[in-house]
Amino acid sequence: QLQLTDMAFKDPLTGLSNRRFLMDNAKREISRHARFDHPFSMMMLDIDHFKKINDNHGHETGDLVLKSFAEICVNTLRLEDCMCRLGGEEFIVLLPNTPVNSAMVIAERLRQEIEQSVISTPSGEITITSSFGVAEVNTNLPFGHSLKAVDHAVYQAKAAGRNCVIPAQ
Ligand code: C2E
Ligand code: C2E
Repeated sequence: QLQLTDMAFKDPLTGLSNRRFLMDNAKREISRHARFDHPFSMMMLDIDHFKKINDNHGHETGDLVLKSFAEICVNTLRLEDCMCRLGGEEFIVLLPNTPVNSAMVIAERLRQEIEQSVISTPSGEITITSSFGVAEVNTNLPFGHSLKAVDHAVYQAKAAGRNCVIPAQ
């Protein structure tokens, strides 16, 4: 039974929650935060130039980098922060009871942690950076609205030269 749930809601590579879990869970989280009027923030992370890693080192190394990336993030976040793999090299972290100014602090801590980590792979040591979009979740609107906002912020972070944190407008 547990394995079936795992398969449905977990990303098999990283062990993180998957997109399906995020979409199911976000609705419940929004409703909970709206009811208690608690601040609720989220961030999107996208590994910079990930395609180059796959192209230069192969998919096995790419997978290893994704796994290590997930591990670094999870160890740097609180247990109650929910990190999901949206797909590819794109991730979402839901930050319950967290105002957006704190979310910026967390994103910056993660950004530095990732930048400073050295990932050992069979094709050598690899360092990565990632781009961040941060937003307060608007609990009066569908989750898709906040998702679009962080996605746009990540786009701006990439345009600003990557390896940075941008708050959504
Ligand atoms: P800080 O590291 O500057 O964090 C400021 C605030 O950002 C925290 O206030 C919290 O609201 C939010 N925050 C920071 N990191 C996280 C995170 O990973 N997840 C979530 N959901 N929120 C986060 P808070 O809770 O009042 O903590 C105040 C200070 O206490 C923190 O300042 C930090 O210096 C220390 N602290 C609290 N918990 C921990 C912890 O588990 N580990 C460490 N190393 N320090 C902690
Ligand atoms: P946790 O809450 O699951 O947090 C796991 C790790 O996320 C922390 O490991 C720390 O690296 C990071 N982290 C979480 N919140 C913050 C924060 O507000 N600021 C900063 N700078 N880092 C944060 P760490 O520090 O080894 O703590 C391990 C566990 O010990 C935490 O797990 C938490 O359960 C507890 N803890 C540590 N410091 C505090 C604290 O100041 N207040 C509370 N309530 N618990 C703490």
